[in-house]
Amino acid sequence: MSDVIYLDNAATTKVAPEVYEAMKPYFEELFGNAASIYRFAGNSRKAVEAARETVADFLGAKPNEIYFTGGGSESDNWALKGVAYALKDKGKHIITTKIEHHAILHTCEFLSKQGFDITYLDVDENGVIDIEALKAAIRPDTILISVMFANNEIGTVEPIKAIGEVAKENGIYFHTDAVQAYGHLPIDVNELKIDLLSASGHKINGPKGIGIMYIRNGVKIDPFIHGGAQERSRRAGTHNTPGIVGFGKATELAKEKMESRRKYETGLRDYLIERVLSEVPYTKLNGHRTDRLSNNANFSFQFIEGESLLIMLDQKGICGSSGSACTSGSLDPYHVLLAIGLPHEIAHGSLRLTLSDETTKDEIDTTVEAVKFVVERLRSMSPLYEDFIKAKKAEDR
Ligand SMILES: *Cc1c(COP(=O)(O)O)cnc(C)c1O
Repeated sequence: MSDVIYLDNAATTKVAPEVYEAMKPYFEELFGNAASIYRFAGNSRKAVEAARETVADFLGAKPNEIYFTGGGSESDNWALKGVAYALKDKGKHIITTKIEHHAILHTCEFLSKQGFDITYLDVDENGVIDIEALKAAIRPDTILISVMFANNEIGTVEPIKAIGEVAKENGIYFHTDAVQAYGHLPIDVNELKIDLLSASGHKINGPKGIGIMYIRNGVKIDPFIHGGAQERSRRAGTHNTPGIVGFGKATELAKEKMESRRKYETGLRDYLIERVLSEVPYTKLNGHRTDRLSNNANFSFQFIEGESLLIMLDQKGICGSSGSACTSGSLDPYHVLLAIGLPHEIAHGSLRLTLSDETTKDEIDTTVEAVKFVVERLRSMSPLYEDFIKAKKAEDR
């Protein structure tokens, strides 16, 4: 790892050593099935319930409102399909946004093929939804509003409290994909009037393949995974005890260091943004300047192909992510960049760098130098850039 500068923490994070240590016994001596009767399994059950309490406490929820799932994508699928199926006789209209993760957008496409009607709200140039547009989109048959807490590509944080209030006033359930926000921002489901919330372990220094869904007591939702009676008969499947314990520990750590982490990351993020914007010409910051995740920086470089940028940065040991249309499947951020109004050719030249609390200033300096070098190099090979410079010189003359 030492020769790699890892700036892709929005894609996944390293499991914290404390998390790994907390999980280990549940792979080894304490392997019992949390649903079994004998005392030996009681250890697993207690660990699952302790983790549930930690998560509930973190969200200002009750333990029986927390469900363990197989990750953020499963929680998103469950929230949308579960509510849609449970309320289909009441209405078939769902409101979401154009900048959601594909776990939401592709689920919406699936539901629309089954006769549900989806409204995709626009966002402004910073990636923020308009509350008046949300109000205007509400219909008598609207059953669910799903708006992400913070965007995974451009880092913008949405006005969750205002959305929750609109949903509540209209008697509509409010789901938020909080995968990027959970553990990074304070979240109180009652204050924010959230009815359903998704989060994932591997985005907060926990293990992969474990997530949670908060479901407010009284919310009507169909089960998603059918089978045993686990998770109050709403999410079948033998408990992933090590994963659940890891999720609980990761939550505990995130809560402990939320403030110090936010301060540290924000300082480093702003330093990175300042340097790139001032030292690389024809560059733009994507996402809201201040209402953004503390670890997210997203740039567009004119006359550059993001894919080439990533490959050349990779050769220098730097891991980032890009807005190229070529990036595979679910990681494709292109729709987000178009939704904030970037023209195609500029959206193609984007670079997302997401920090962690272990990122150093040295790493940021090395990265800025590398970005400067690579961008210059790629532009020197671009006929578009050549034309642009020629035209500019002619203008100046
Ligand atoms: C990563 C991510 C997901 C998917 O979570 P997984 O646990 O990887 O399935 C969903 N939404 C957002 C905003 C994400 O960043």
